[in-house]
Amino acid sequence: MYLVLLGPPGAGKGTQAKKLAVTLNLPHISTGDILRQNVKDGTDLGKQAKGIMDKGLLVPDELVAKMLDERFNNPDISNGFILDGYPRTLAQAKTLDQILSNKGKKLDLVVYLNSSDQTIINRLGGRLVCSKCGSNFHVTNMPPKVKGLCDNCQAALYQRSDDNETTVRKRLEVYKKEVASLIEYYAKTGKLHSLNADLGAEVVLSQIIDLAGGK
Ligand code: AMP
Repeated sequence: MYLVLLGPPGAGKGTQAKKLAVTLNLPHISTGDILRQNVKDGTDLGKQAKGIMDKGLLVPDELVAKMLDERFNNPDISNGFILDGYPRTLAQAKTLDQILSNKGKKLDLVVYLNSSDQTIINRLGGRLVCSKCGSNFHVTNMPPKVKGLCDNCQAALYQRSDDNETTVRKRLEVYKKEVASLIEYYAKTGKLHSLNADLGAEVVLSQIIDLAGGK
């Protein structure tokens, strides 16, 4: 099952992808996570990406495509993946098709998590991320059992540097500029399903699992 999760920042792509990865036994590939790891490790890619990410802008296509192509060389994707954060533009959607077709693979399902601006701003304003396993929490909607610590691995939680209000608004603006052409592209393939991501995470998860089961 080669599945892509589309949707604005804060729609719950990361949360859903992590749960789906466990349920469907597939790797979760998040371009944002790979980029943040590069920033943390101080790689050349990380150095090029950091300033761009802090401004809420998109890292240049060729850098992200190369990074993804390398990630897809890992044999753990032989039965599928849950892709989160890519594609973000029509050009990236076409690149993804190309990279996959070069490897003899194609997408099975594209799920669009549609969310209102208000939900997004509330979610991202209170989001907490685990510094070790990347699990997401929320100060009020999904608080950790012990303040400041991850329920799954007990590592410290932190707030992403791009989850401040100014950068969130910029990320939303960038997202809205690109999303229509992306949706149009996938609608034509017949693989696109749209879900209301303002609903609770468990409801959305079971809807995605139903869609995946039908593929
Ligand atoms: P995310 O974790 O998906 O919210 O991504 C965080 C940031 O990483 C984005 O705001 C971008 O700066 C960068 N990024 C992640 N995925 C992509 C992508 N597919 N294309 C360009 N930039 C990306």
